[in-house]
Amino acid sequence: MIALENLGFRPYFATQLDRLARPDLVPARIAADGQNAWHLAGCRASVGELSGRLRGELVETMRPVVGDWVAVADDGERAVIHHLLDRRTAMIRRAAFSTAKSQMIAANVDCFGIVTSANRDFNVRRIERYMTAIYDSGASPVMVLNKVDLVENVTPFIEELAAVALGVPVIQVSALTGAGIAELRAHIGPGTTFGLIGSSGVGKSSLANRLIGQDVQHVSEIRGDDARGRHTTTRRELLLLPGGGVLIDTPGMRELGLIEDGGGVDAAFADIAEAAEACRFADCGHESEPGCAVRAAIAAGTISPERWASYRKLQREVRSAEARRDPLLAAQDRKRWKTIHKAVRAKAKVTGKP
Ligand code: GDP
Ligand code: ZN
Repeated sequence: MIALENLGFRPYFATQLDRLARPDLVPARIAADGQNAWHLAGCRASVGELSGRLRGELVETMRPVVGDWVAVADDGERAVIHHLLDRRTAMIRRAAFSTAKSQMIAANVDCFGIVTSANRDFNVRRIERYMTAIYDSGASPVMVLNKVDLVENVTPFIEELAAVALGVPVIQVSALTGAGIAELRAHIGPGTTFGLIGSSGVGKSSLANRLIGQDVQHVSEIRGDDARGRHTTTRRELLLLPGGGVLIDTPGMRELGLIEDGGGVDAAFADIAEAAEACRFADCGHESEPGCAVRAAIAAGTISPERWASYRKLQREVRSAEARRDPLLAAQDRKRWKTIHKAVRAKAKVTGKP
């Protein structure tokens, strides 16, 4: 059995467990979601199912996902999940269509590595999108520039990344040669939960293999039954790193979009948010208002027109998502995220200046 601390268990969850006053329950972490059977880590049983009461009460938002902490009755064989503990962070994929529902992708991820590769043009607009989603989840980002073995000079890539990273660390790695992996590993402390996001082909699987130190394709699978009683197999998505720390690797993480504005847009665009503070009017729309500091910054070239357009686009998406009142979003404890974002933003202000 794995030490709970290495799996990311911390006072935030321990306190909730204590408050349940159920000495018969132990904590466990969801390692994979298999429809009606959940793969568990940190307890004796490797598989658990929901208690009858929980199944009856569970709305979609409260369905355990990979990364969640739960309180289980553990007989060593098949555990019964009695409680879902409050999430510290929640990564949600925005619905692509206004009629579709958003989807919870992973819970309690502390840090996301945004992976780009040095061998082709990377899309800074997409990186801004990832950063916004990460800040909105309550987690923090690091930039991972992979495939540095393919270029003579990484400086142009680093410079382009730094312009959107705003003080977020940029780590240069090669999953092929192993260069920089130790530095990346140093960002993932013993109790830290880490996720990799980025476009297909940038090397996320290769990096995961490097971090795990073996081929993660060969991970255990669980068998469960879906709603129609069919047997299904589920790939384990929560992987323990040697030396402690956890890597979450889910297919859903690869198609992240934006959700609502928990402050993520302003956190990802701290330069624009900061410029806007100097606008003459507090409710300045940055169109043709007199004394607009944002338009002045664009005119002066401090903020590029592309970055400004990207900011506006993300803001529009966020507003339309909010207007749709997605039930998944409504259930989020927004106040808590905002507190986290404030801390993130304060940090960005200290370190974020070029
Ligand atoms: P994913 O889609 O993001 O998971 O990317 P993969 O890990 O599947 O990698 C895509 C391709 O890039 C594969 O052919 C890898 O062998 C290759 N690749 C991954 N990392 C590196 C690297 O650091 N250097 C080089 N030269 N190739 C890499
Ligand atoms: Zn303005």
